[in-house]
Amino acid sequence: KRILFVFGTRPEAIKLAPVIKALQNDAFFDVKVCLTAQHREMLDQVLDFFKIEAWYDLDLMRKNQDLFDLTARILTALKQPLAEFKPDLVCVHGDTTTTMAASLAAFYAGCKVAHIEAGLRTFNKQSPFPEELNRQITGRIADFHFAPTATASANLKAEGIAGEHIFVTGNTVIDALQLTVNKVAALQPNFARGIPFQNKKIILITGHRRENFGDGMQRVCEALRDLALARPDVHLVYPVHLNPNVKNTVFDILGNVRNCSLIDPLQYPDFVWLMNRSYLIVTDSGGVQEEAPALGKPVLVTRDTTERPEAVDAGTVSLIGTNPEKLRQGILTLLDDKQHYETMSKAHNPYGDGKASQRIVQVLKDNL
Ligand code: UDP
Repeated sequence: KRILFVFGTRPEAIKLAPVIKALQNDAFFDVKVCLTAQHREMLDQVLDFFKIEAWYDLDLMRKNQDLFDLTARILTALKQPLAEFKPDLVCVHGDTTTTMAASLAAFYAGCKVAHIEAGLRTFNKQSPFPEELNRQITGRIADFHFAPTATASANLKAEGIAGEHIFVTGNTVIDALQLTVNKVAALQPNFARGIPFQNKKIILITGHRRENFGDGMQRVCEALRDLALARPDVHLVYPVHLNPNVKNTVFDILGNVRNCSLIDPLQYPDFVWLMNRSYLIVTDSGGVQEEAPALGKPVLVTRDTTERPEAVDAGTVSLIGTNPEKLRQGILTLLDDKQHYETMSKAHNPYGDGKASQRIVQVLKDNL
């Protein structure tokens, strides 16, 4: 059976890599990869690390691209590879503009669609924007829904998707993490030079959600700056997303803080290494909310909603929003209250056992 993977960003590549590898190891499948390259640089790092080769690279990223233009270009550009390969199945992941537009293109071309990481919902179309609607639209189109958790499966059933099309597999991010974590123990990453990992508590920060651009991101950065100035016993490490909406705000506010290192986005293994060495993580990232519980790291999420309630319920993740006082207090409690820290870091990981890809392969073998 012919399977075409279509994706365009770093998190999709990380989470699809173990699935692509597992399918490529099975002679039943002819697997090809088509990149939209919606985010060019950060995607290529991941493909290099997992040694994934693209059959087709649409290379669609443009300076200042907007959603109208990007969606239209993805839809049009996919016509040719779909006509050439004639896949039995198009595989997409998650909630990006590529995910949504590729599902629609596959539907127009008469191909079945498999949606990996299906069923995540906030039920608020504005948050995260545009991801929530992207995944809802993809959910309407897909034939196979690979839900990471029982909660995600229940969300799909509540939208009228028949149970026989939904498969709870765990999240493939845990597969990717397990493939990587053993390789990183011996790393001595270059970026780490000059960062006081030995004698300071490291706070890892990431942020790039569109809904936080502007005011939200500014409030978060100001809270972090005030905290860093008040607490010389901590060191902030912030791999800054390349989007200028993120970069400009972060460098303006945190650029001159002595105990804060602003660095380029990291290669996936370096980032896993850094998560492992962090005391706590402040993020608006989806993937990091799933990885950190598996590594026993408390997470403060700078959003008001999350489509990943499982780790909040389990206790490793706390939803903070962008209120600066709440964020500062959340960090201080984790720094100073040992018992609270222990409770958060020891909560169980609800996102799977690292065998999600195997389950996906089996379902496709049985049903395609
Ligand atoms: N990540 C990375 N390098 C970085 C920051 C994050 O490799 O500098 C990884 C992280 O481990 C996770 C994924 O990228 O697997 C998350 O991507 P991102 O936060 O961009 O997107 P989201 O998960 O929010 O969709």
